[in-house]
Amino acid sequence: MTVNSVSETLLGLDALLTDDEREWQAKARTFATQRISPTIEKDFEDAIFRREFVAELGAQGMLGMHLTGYGAAGANATSYGLVCYELEAADTAWRTFVSVQGSLAMSALAYFGSPEQKEQWLPSLATGAAIGCFALTEPTGGSDPAGMLTRATRSGDDWVLDGSKRWIGLGTVADVAIVWAQTDEGVRGFVVPTDTPGFRAVNIESKHSLRASIQCDLFFNDLRLPASALLPEARGLSAPFRCLNDARFGIVWGVMGAARDCLDVAIERSKTRQAFGKPIGAMQLTQQKFADSFVEYEKGMLLALHLAKLKDAGTLTPEQISVGKLNNVREAIQIASMARSVLAGDGITGDFPVMRHMNNLESVRTYEGTDEVHTLVLGRALTDQAAFR
Ligand SMILES: Cc1cc2nc3c(=O)[nH]c(=O)nc-3n(C[C@H](O)[C@H](O)[C@H](O)COP(=O)(O)OP(=O)(O)OC[C@H]3O[C@@H](n4cnc5c(N)ncnc54)[C@H](O)[C@@H]3O)c2cc1C
Repeated sequence: MTVNSVSETLLGLDALLTDDEREWQAKARTFATQRISPTIEKDFEDAIFRREFVAELGAQGMLGMHLTGYGAAGANATSYGLVCYELEAADTAWRTFVSVQGSLAMSALAYFGSPEQKEQWLPSLATGAAIGCFALTEPTGGSDPAGMLTRATRSGDDWVLDGSKRWIGLGTVADVAIVWAQTDEGVRGFVVPTDTPGFRAVNIESKHSLRASIQCDLFFNDLRLPASALLPEARGLSAPFRCLNDARFGIVWGVMGAARDCLDVAIERSKTRQAFGKPIGAMQLTQQKFADSFVEYEKGMLLALHLAKLKDAGTLTPEQISVGKLNNVREAIQIASMARSVLAGDGITGDFPVMRHMNNLESVRTYEGTDEVHTLVLGRALTDQAAFR
């Protein structure tokens, strides 16, 4: 891995990467440090989403980079993971952007779209000329999407969409929304241009997490769509779940980036901050915090690498992704909390990135399946008994 901190060098994981993977990582790190980091504290504070970054990420080939064709880069899973890792080391908002645009909206079109839908949307989503969103969660709850109330009804050849969605990333800036709705044939997906009459998006303003990112309420009121808006290959909830698996894989990597940043900042600070006449990094209790965090960080990275190999081999299962999402988010939160304790009072300020990462990671713990949902997925895999209900 592009090496510049002790948390990256000690275990030598860099040796496990190919030159191509290192190149993707270096590109993402340059973007993260030169474009995102300089303004991120203020962007977080003022809730600014920098629209100009979208085309820049597109120009770097980082949008839908795991897909092939229609302008997508066709990169391998480790490369995609490393990009997520570096972007999230700067801020979760920009890894989230790449996840929503690339893994959710673009994956839905690439896996389930008609040739015309792909042609119309994928090239512009890959360059960042257009923005996409993915609307599954509803105000009544996200953990059980089978209970969704949004409905698409046939009207002659057309479909009419009614209902609402909540927490939809990029809803107010998106050009196209992938909307999941109940129909007489079960859950189906629809490609909805956001300028269609009857579509309304409203920003959720009162967030204390992911403030440099946009999440929205969406409302569909008598929204009429042509028959060609239906994603022809998406039948049932397995379709959105396939997209969510791509995004969850990116999270497994991304949160380790946030963890690395927290660990690095705390270690650096411990070298100069003095207490009782010596640097706090020379105290055994501080060293234990670092050693425990570092071990979890490295285990998280190894898990991410392992899942990437399985993904490229085409054998990665949802349960394996649940292991990664549950473990790595949980450990990243622990590491951020450890770093906050080392920074102590200063740790709660915007002078350091730690509290921002901590707040962001709380969103990541909830979206793409909560801790509880992934725990139940693993419980079912281990016991062969579902305990969701
Ligand atoms: C910042 C952010 C961005 C998001 N982006 C998107 C997006 O782009 N598109 C989209 O569609 N959605 C998005 N979401 C929605 C996200 O996926 C949901 O918030 C998530 O699925 C949880 O749903 P909920 O918040 O409605 O909680 P609920 O489903 O109401 O759950 C409440 C609590 O009950 C627990 N629970 C639920 N079922 C069980 C059970 N069987 N046993 C024990 N506990 C249980 C949950 O784990 C949770 O702790 C986003 C959310 C956030 C916060």
